[in-house]
Amino acid sequence: MALPPISDDAIKKLVERLVKIESPSGDGEAIARVVEVLAEELDGLGILTITETTEGPWLELSRGQGGALLLGHADTVWPKGTLKEMPWRDEGDWVYGPGTLDMKGGLAIGVAALRSLSPTVPFRFLVTPDEEIGSAKSRDIIEDRARQARMVIVLEAGMPGGGMKISRAGVGDFTLAIRGIESHAGLEPDKGASAIREMSHQVLWLAGLENKVMGTTLNVGVARGGTRSNVVPGRAEAFLDVRVTSRSEMDRIIATFKAPPRFDVRCRVEYTGDFNRPPMEPNSESQSWAQRARNIWESLTGEELVGARVGGASDGNYTAGLSPTLDGLGPVGQGAHARHEGVEWRFMEPRVRLIGELIAQAGRY
Ligand SMILES: [Zn+2]
Repeated sequence: MALPPISDDAIKKLVERLVKIESPSGDGEAIARVVEVLAEELDGLGILTITETTEGPWLELSRGQGGALLLGHADTVWPKGTLKEMPWRDEGDWVYGPGTLDMKGGLAIGVAALRSLSPTVPFRFLVTPDEEIGSAKSRDIIEDRARQARMVIVLEAGMPGGGMKISRAGVGDFTLAIRGIESHAGLEPDKGASAIREMSHQVLWLAGLENKVMGTTLNVGVARGGTRSNVVPGRAEAFLDVRVTSRSEMDRIIATFKAPPRFDVRCRVEYTGDFNRPPMEPNSESQSWAQRARNIWESLTGEELVGARVGGASDGNYTAGLSPTLDGLGPVGQGAHARHEGVEWRFMEPRVRLIGELIAQAGRY
């Protein structure tokens, strides 16, 4: 089961084909068309399974047991019609268009890497339809396949200059709800318990939970409450974004929110919410894979492959606790989720070879 390797030109044509199918999260039909193109390009390489879900299909291609898991997603953040204002553009050194970097270019790298492998190398390739909306549908299958894999390669975009992503923040969404006691601000001010005053104390207390050294940040992005200026407010609420880079920090925040202080004991204070994705933390196994990747990259390009810590999350956040994970090994460029999204073409071929070599090494165990 071998297919001819795919030329640099053919990789570009594949990226163009994929970008021209606009596939926003939630558009199962469009995502199915992306999957069809991939299936066509991969036909004959292994056992191909396409499973329908309400968000669009999963594509799985596998060969043998226990090799690397290559992970990608077919959805983008761009709504249908974006191509009209932001068309596919090939300027030679760079290509531009919605989803080029995140991650149609990554899917093309994956296809080309798999086609370059010797037919005895085991692997699994999983493409999901809902990464950009949190992977609620796909989390279980991602985690299951990660558990079975020797290591995981995520085809998300690399850093400018080529670096990979070895640590990603975990992101939490929380709501603070406060119930105080309403009363007339002039006649019976002492009978009231101000929910807004309590919220203000809470917001200052939250600032003290930050730990910049550990990478923990809290942002109260929305705060509101009360009804009229002459009423002691009975209700207030706030919405928070919390970022952590370690599981211990995630656990500390969750535990703290379960038993918050009350500055006015007559108020009821409640934090609800959760972390959408746990942090992706490097460990000794993932660091040893990162070192292999650095060695391969240096021999291919003469350049150093930097390992970066980033605030954004990906499906690598789910796999990192289950199997050594290297993320950001997809295309290199600029402007993911932005109007100037594009891919710097000179990195494509070395990325294909890097991933091919990593999969081959993972298959040798
Ligand atoms: Zn992505």
